[in-house]
Amino acid sequence: MKVIVAESCGFCPGVKNAINIAEKILTKENNVYSLGPIIHNKDMVEQLARAGLKTVNNVEQIPPGTDFGEPSQTVLIRSHGAAPEQIAKLKEKKLNIVDATCILVKRLQQIARELNDGGYKVVVIGDENHPEVRAVVGYAGDVIVVANEQDLYKLPENSKLGIVCQTTQSPEHIGKMLGAIGRRNFNELKVVNTLCKEAIKRQESAVQLCKEVDVMFVLGGLESANTRRLAELCKKYNSQTFHLQNWNEFDKSVVSGKNTVGVTAGASTPEWIIYEFVENLKAFGNTGA
Ligand code: SF4
Repeated sequence: MKVIVAESCGFCPGVKNAINIAEKILTKENNVYSLGPIIHNKDMVEQLARAGLKTVNNVEQIPPGTDFGEPSQTVLIRSHGAAPEQIAKLKEKKLNIVDATCILVKRLQQIARELNDGGYKVVVIGDENHPEVRAVVGYAGDVIVVANEQDLYKLPENSKLGIVCQTTQSPEHIGKMLGAIGRRNFNELKVVNTLCKEAIKRQESAVQLCKEVDVMFVLGGLESANTRRLAELCKKYNSQTFHLQNWNEFDKSVVSGKNTVGVTAGASTPEWIIYEFVENLKAFGNTGA
């Protein structure tokens, strides 16, 4: 059985940067908090938790800093960013903030703010429950989030719309949404491309590979939006696509009698998960099972 790994897969620069920052702080400090899981990958979150990183869901769960000398608690802002309201609360609590927001997410936040200041009704194409989108909403007042064409009823008629997108959406989906928005009544449309090229590279390389193999594995957290997007895209072109978190979830029956197997991984999937999976898969293939 031949195992082929997608040319572009695994950690993106934004995630790598956040992990590096976390590892560095954890060597020096004891009370380090992450506002929300640092990345959408259980294995990585558990590894950093063992190194001392405490994950909290909201600012209220972090004990306040002190008035004397250095703040006693450090809070890491993950690559998805945080809303201005959350940052203000962290400052109020006198916590030491380390910002690991990905620069592309920061750009999206800034563009949303500028569109709002310029009198546009800001529309984000994305998932309203995703932390990146929730944070962006905080930067631009009364934002409308649309995930698919069914959500377009939320758009006001005859207004100035300023459109941006969640960084990890696919160009294919954005194109479809823009076409549908363009058919509605509006006075002005301003679209700024806020898609992440790293996420697109992973999508293109996954789609190319999945068309060439009998079975396709997409590795990564089940909550990871970019990994889910990869799995959705691959499924479209290869029905034998499986989204797994790691090797423990491998089911040998799906590769039985198959000749070629492809592997890709989301931008938040650590190298070691990919390596372990590929090596085990190769060994399994060599047994002729
Ligand atoms: S996928 Fe792109 S936007 Fe998201 S963290 Fe990685 S580099 Fe940044």
